[in-house]
Amino acid sequence: MAVPKRKTSPSRRNMRRSHHALTATQFQECSNCGELKLPHHICNGCGHYNGREVSEPKA
Ligand SMILES: [Zn+2]
Repeated sequence: MAVPKRKTSPSRRNMRRSHHALTATQFQECSNCGELKLPHHICNGCGHYNGREVSEPKA
């Protein structure tokens, strides 16, 4: 099995992890009802996606 020759220093390890930060969730306004929804998801408020109704709105 291939094994690293040297221990990764804290500096190297932290430099690698500098790209690991999470970004905040992005929201879009539904074009039908204006409610905030996740991009590429059906709207929770009205069940629309891409300008047409896909599923029945819940309650
Ligand atoms: Zn909607």
